Amino acid sequence: MTAPAEDAFSASRRLLSRLRDVMAAGGTAQARLDKIVQLIAAEMVADVCSVYVMRAGEVLELFATVGLNPQAVHVTRMSVNEGLVGLVAADQAPVRLSNARNHPRFAYRPETGEDPFQSFAGVPILRGGRVRGVLVIQHKDRRDYTELDTETLQTIAMVVAELIAAGELVSQGEIGAGPGDGDMRPSRLAGVTMNEGIGIGLAVLHQPQITVREMVAEDPQVEIQRVNDALSTMHLALDELERLTADQGDGEHLDILETYRMLAADRGWTRRIHEAILGGLSAEAAIQKVQTDTRLRIAQMTDPYIRERMLDFEDVAQRLLYHLQGRRSEAADGTLPDDVILVARSMGPAELLDYDRSRLRGLILEEGSPTSHVAIIARALGIPVIGRCEDALSRIDPLDPLIVDGDHAQVYVRPGDEVESGYRKTLRFRAEERKNYAAMASLPAISKDGVRATILLNAGMLIDLAALEETGAAGVGLYRTEIPFMVRSQYPAVSAQTELYGKVFDQAAGRPVTFRTLDVGGDKKLPYFPEDNAENPALGWRAIRMGLDRPAMLRKQLRALLAAASERRAPLRIMFPMITEASEFFAARALLDREIARRLADGGAVPSDIKVGMMLEVPSIIWQLPMLAGVPGGADFISIGTNDLMQFLYASDRGDQRLANRYDPLSTAMLLALKDVVEKCEAAGVPVTVCGEMGGRPLDAMVLLALGVRMLSMPPQAVARIKMMVRSLDVGQVRALMGELMRHPHHSLRERLRLYALENGIKI
Ligand code: PEP
Ligand code: MG
Repeated sequence: MTAPAEDAFSASRRLLSRLRDVMAAGGTAQARLDKIVQLIAAEMVADVCSVYVMRAGEVLELFATVGLNPQAVHVTRMSVNEGLVGLVAADQAPVRLSNARNHPRFAYRPETGEDPFQSFAGVPILRGGRVRGVLVIQHKDRRDYTELDTETLQTIAMVVAELIAAGELVSQGEIGAGPGDGDMRPSRLAGVTMNEGIGIGLAVLHQPQITVREMVAEDPQVEIQRVNDALSTMHLALDELERLTADQGDGEHLDILETYRMLAADRGWTRRIHEAILGGLSAEAAIQKVQTDTRLRIAQMTDPYIRERMLDFEDVAQRLLYHLQGRRSEAADGTLPDDVILVARSMGPAELLDYDRSRLRGLILEEGSPTSHVAIIARALGIPVIGRCEDALSRIDPLDPLIVDGDHAQVYVRPGDEVESGYRKTLRFRAEERKNYAAMASLPAISKDGVRATILLNAGMLIDLAALEETGAAGVGLYRTEIPFMVRSQYPAVSAQTELYGKVFDQAAGRPVTFRTLDVGGDKKLPYFPEDNAENPALGWRAIRMGLDRPAMLRKQLRALLAAASERRAPLRIMFPMITEASEFFAARALLDREIARRLADGGAVPSDIKVGMMLEVPSIIWQLPMLAGVPGGADFISIGTNDLMQFLYASDRGDQRLANRYDPLSTAMLLALKDVVEKCEAAGVPVTVCGEMGGRPLDAMVLLALGVRMLSMPPQAVARIKMMVRSLDVGQVRALMGELMRHPHHSLRERLRLYALENGIKI
């Protein structure tokens, strides 16, 4: 985009400074609004200028107009589903039409007398990410409104938003500005679980919107200097946060801060802020305007990855505002309650890190998805998270008692005593359980008939590795390497990867770690990869398919793994994800061989013990196992990814809630497939692990042992329960029962197996 011409800047400045005079001139809010529409109509030479204000129930009411029938003011009302004005509000995006009547959403309102007007330009009046109203201009003749017209209207809309938010036109309670709606009754809000667990505490509303008092500024140079100074202090503060985070050894958090630094240094962003200032806005208003524009642009994109990166950008902009006003965020103001439940519209991951982690008990987001960075970080910190909890900010007041129930995707606001004491009991029970489990850490997982199970952990962040010690797990059966790739702004260099894998080895302290090479694609997006519009992403260009098509990428990862392992003289376990046919495995292994040869040629050492395996998660490979498992140059071990195997075997999307319980892994087809795999691996003398979720569920794990699986890899919280189950089990008996049960075409064997376990004292 080229910079708007100098005269456009000065026209915008003139209009804004007149608006400021109107805002400062006293009188009622209605009188000021009337003057504002007159002023805009005159300056933009429009036949009509109107402001519609959002009222309770998502109704837009005409509040002021020049050009339409004055009798229609406070009479014309429409829902967001009606008319062009409703369309602007519903889409939160500008609408520009040279012939409005041809638009399918055009709705004629006789009381307004708007028949003579052909062209229409409307922009949403936004504040704090919510629509507060709609600003419209209309012309009698056909007119092609320009980008600049929309820009000007959007700038004016920011000023009008302040007038509405002040609460004089309609009450604060009605506009849903949050505190003050007076409803103190207990309530329950539903959302989507982004991390399981239960948290009890008091509400802290994250970043109540910074109020920008001065929208318009006299001297652009002063404002530009203020922004530049604030940018410098923000960089210093990010340095400090980075230093603190590095001290705590959180590798992934550092990656996120690196992304922030890149966003903060984005020249396009600072240039747009400078331009908005040259157009007459104050530094604060300019930052907000650029943020609103970016939000609008991004809202129209369908790529969830880009939409999530918007949160990081929002966070950076908010930080800049805080620095500009010399304020500290509430995260750092020292008056937080002991038990904090954070409530936010959305949040960047570094914002979460700003809070004292020892006080955080839960997080509630109005937006968000399980793959967002903040969810990944919250999971690592063990904080329950409910996302897509609509209107949380307007229904929760600061310091309201809250219960976050991440197990059932709900939030209790001001819960009654009974509900609270019920949850406190559950929390106490879980704490007690954890204590008992800690005692299990040193006990082996040996069944009553002497079958020994090896318990391993699934991990994906450095922070997960602490659980090795706590749970007494024998090692890491699945290290998902993708997280550091997803939170960075560019593909991590070999040196950065080597350092990270080195830390994994250090923290594993001699226990074996199986690294799975990059499993991205589908819904796990990398910011530096072109957007993928595949119709079926789960069946698309992902995991090893990507690695083989972009061998340089996979080779760099293999190079880093070889370097980290040989530096520490550690045994190296590597496995490839999504192997669909045997030739893919051989091709991937050949890449590793090339990297080994390269290291040796460079005079480097290679680990003396290297084992190469594969994930078994695509059914087709089952029939090629004999060509692959245990043959020279083939797979040294197999790890069954039951999550994907289930999805591909049953053609059933693992992320679709509607299918969540439709097919059961404890049903004949899946169990016969697993049995087949185990037998083929046994015949080939190749060890087999289950690293999908089945391995961490006691009843399912009982069945896996009966089918001959001896290694299970699971999340840390599952270890103690699985050990307890194994120690109460007679594997031979379940094996005999399974032989019988698998002959029947039942939808699921779960209920029969559960009854058997209960009757036989197996701790499931
Ligand atoms: C699986 O598919 O079961 C698995 C362990 O891998 P992920 O869940 O990472 O796809
Ligand atoms: Mg998988």
